[in-house]
Amino acid sequence: MEESCNQCGKCCLHMRRYMIIERNISDSQYFCHFTLTKERFFARLGGDDLARFRDRNSMSGYPDSCPFLRQLEDKSFHCTIYSSRPEHCRKFFCA
Ligand code: SF4
Ligand code: SF4
Repeated sequence: MEESCNQCGKCCLHMRRYMIIERNISDSQYFCHFTLTKERFFARLGGDDLARFRDRNSMSGYPDSCPFLRQLEDKSFHCTIYSSRPEHCRKFFCA
């Protein structure tokens, strides 16, 4: 997701195969491997995002989505690790 996106979620709905959570560092920090670019990074969650991440109900209809994606009540999609997302996601711009 880019900074000025409309949160349609399309760029994240098929990323599960590439986003591997390798291990928990703590309840709110995960060591991850984004295999598409071979990047390893720490995913950090806090506040509302930690609560959203723990509740997977909103994503039951999207089994291929990035494990950090959640759908909000208004049906938009939200990255729960936005501030610590991998470089690929930071650089992504959709047409
Ligand atoms: S970056 Fe583009 S494809 Fe991804 S959620 Fe935003 S608008 Fe949708
Ligand atoms: S880390 Fe965030 S922006 Fe990147 S694929 Fe996952 S949900 Fe989308």
